[in-house]
Amino acid sequence: SPVHVSSFIESLLEKLNNVAAKKRITLHMDIPDELFMEADEDKLQQIFLNLLSNGINYTLDGGKVKIKVMTVQRENDTERVVFTVSDTGIGIPKKDLPRIFERFYRVDKGRSRNSGGTGLGLSIVKHLVDLHHGTLSVESELGIGTTFTIELPLLQQEE
Ligand code: ATP
Ligand code: MG
Repeated sequence: SPVHVSSFIESLLEKLNNVAAKKRITLHMDIPDELFMEADEDKLQQIFLNLLSNGINYTLDGGKVKIKVMTVQRENDTERVVFTVSDTGIGIPKKDLPRIFERFYRVDKGRSRNSGGTGLGLSIVKHLVDLHHGTLSVESELGIGTTFTIELPLLQQEE
């Protein structure tokens, strides 16, 4: 069933506002008002709760976490929805980037100890994006921040 993307993300940000406020982290969104997509809302919620929570967990006090959404036209006129979740956080070392989507992988235990995570979040995100016939990528710079990009079909494929 169609998901109204901006209302959906707005309600996710409301759920996360308390956690973010404790670290004086501000949450931002930039999403076209009229955008609807066909997707399983529970799965979408798991994807973006994980990414946004990571953004909050791995960003120092006073930082920013932002989600931006737009549509793009791909091969044979298929429309896709591009989500970017970016933060002004601690970043991920280059050598760890290829492994962060593996189950239980965490970038050195010292730095992420406080967040008490299990290292499963991103492996679940990867799995859910695959189920949706989507793509997932990450760019990061140590001490500057991290951006995850997810591209999903606007309409569900008929199998
Ligand atoms: P869980 O999500 O299961 O509670 P987790 O957050 O440690 O635990 P993942 O979400 O899979 O696990 O992330 C894996 C690791 O990647 C994290 O431990 C952290 O080191 C790193 N990481 C993930 N997102 C970010 C981010 N936005 N900025 C910096 N490091 C990140
Ligand atoms: Mg996580």
